Amino acid sequence: MTDQSKRIFGIDLGTTYSSIAYVDEFGKAVIIPNAENERVMPSVVFFDEDSIVVGDVAKESSKLYPNEVVSFVKRSMGEPNFIFLHNSEEYRAEEISAYILKKLAQDAEQYLGEKVSDVVITCPAYFGINEREATRKAGEIAGFNVRHIINEPTAAAIAYGAMDTQNERVVLVYDLGGGTFDITMIDIRKDSVEVICTGGDHNLGGKDWDDRIVAYMVEVFQNETGTDEDILDDPDTWQDLQLSAEKAKKILSQRPKTPISVTHGGERIKMTLDLEKFQEITEDLLERTIEFTKEMLEEAKSKGYKTFDEIILVGGATRMPHVTARIQEEFSVTPKIFDPDEAVAKGAAIFGWKLSLNDGLIERLSRKTNKPIQQIDEISEMIESRELSSKDFKDAAQEVADETGYTLPSIERSMLKVKNVTSKSFGIVAHTAKDQEIVFNIVLRNTTVPIIRKKTFYTAVVDQKTVLIRIMESETSQVEIQLAQAVEIKTAVLNLPPNLPVDLPIEITFVLNEEGRLHITALEKTESRQIDVMVDTASVIQGEALEKAKERSQNLVVH
Ligand code: AMP
Repeated sequence: MTDQSKRIFGIDLGTTYSSIAYVDEFGKAVIIPNAENERVMPSVVFFDEDSIVVGDVAKESSKLYPNEVVSFVKRSMGEPNFIFLHNSEEYRAEEISAYILKKLAQDAEQYLGEKVSDVVITCPAYFGINEREATRKAGEIAGFNVRHIINEPTAAAIAYGAMDTQNERVVLVYDLGGGTFDITMIDIRKDSVEVICTGGDHNLGGKDWDDRIVAYMVEVFQNETGTDEDILDDPDTWQDLQLSAEKAKKILSQRPKTPISVTHGGERIKMTLDLEKFQEITEDLLERTIEFTKEMLEEAKSKGYKTFDEIILVGGATRMPHVTARIQEEFSVTPKIFDPDEAVAKGAAIFGWKLSLNDGLIERLSRKTNKPIQQIDEISEMIESRELSSKDFKDAAQEVADETGYTLPSIERSMLKVKNVTSKSFGIVAHTAKDQEIVFNIVLRNTTVPIIRKKTFYTAVVDQKTVLIRIMESETSQVEIQLAQAVEIKTAVLNLPPNLPVDLPIEITFVLNEEGRLHITALEKTESRQIDVMVDTASVIQGEALEKAKERSQNLVVH
């Protein structure tokens, strides 16, 4: 790998476990084990006296120091009220996530003897605009050049599709991770991977199965000891039960029953949890995933996709055998368990590899054609319109192949088109004729991104100074909805030039890019003047707090 073709690493920043991968010299995606020789690392951060510990040791420390340990921080991404206090310092979810990323990168650097600077980070398809921005910020705080935020199921589909590029098929990716459930329909073609529809639940994952076991353990403890005390109020007991519950759950993926013990306040009880009971106390959780899947299939029908060919299971929690059984019963297809823990990081690495090869091609072809090419997709369009000859393209591809050591077919394969949809609708607050506030959706969920939408506003008074736009996100597919059905994610303030008349048209352009990030520009139409737009998002770390987090992270070695 030379300097010109910089390696881009793929990172699965999971709710419960994280991992990092790269594409080796043979074009194969491989996971990089961490310093503890584990291929996946618990996404747990322990704020020790004067150092920060991430991973297995942090997870183990949660028993002894429950108040100093942060787990499941991904569930708080883009959540303005989440603040973790340590030594009177405040830490937001983005910064804590940055420490997880730093640990992965540090260990990978040690393993490969190569700097990790450019990365692709994954996030649940279900993440909205702010959560995606928060994920990107976490990468920036960790000191990375974040090349792309890609959806976890899309990454898994890329890893899956990369194994067999000849068979065109429609695949459902059923992704049950530690904290999120995503269900995604993907059309895999020879030259493209296209997301058709996505659905799921931000707050449904393996952890909820653990919580049910914890609740069961508490109930048995209370029955056997005769106490009505809520033993989970004791943080030590709570942590202990969480860890035992997860262990029990994993054992039940292998065996029909498992012994569990609960110790609290000097009393200890033993019990046995069998698979049947486990299934009974978690049945509604599994049913919710089936309902979300059916809902998504209905939506896919409206896009012309009436059937699918395969279901692949990713995410560690799909190892529970009754997940496979229930899906088979409902949809009459045998789901394939596909590399549940590693597919996402590997897919992100393949996507990163594609980006780095694309960089090489774009740079050469821009030089050859004297045209500034921005996106790889433009190249095929240029070949089609004969702006670019096939020979020039082949020559450039050969040069990239020679420089990187990859084969010509793999350089051509890196032209793979990846198309995504937005998982949420977004719109603005508007006034009805009766002057009631409603949300007018500008982009509906499951629309292919990137997408550009324009809307014209009119000044309401002479010499209006500003226009305030409230940007709302929701999960409905209707154009007009009530305010209560959406959440405000940002405000944009347009600072207008002086002395504008009343009723002057101002055109606002909303661009939702392929990563699901929103960009807003505004134009005063009569004189074609660009208008300054200030976007404010309290939900995502920014300004001074961001700078402080970056500085803190820069000087930090995580253990
Ligand atoms: P992921 O976010 O994809 O890494 O998935 C993590 C989730 O998978 C956690 O809730 C784990 O407890 C769960 N998990 C991992 N291995 C197993 C297993 N063998 N059986 C059941 N759940 C598992």
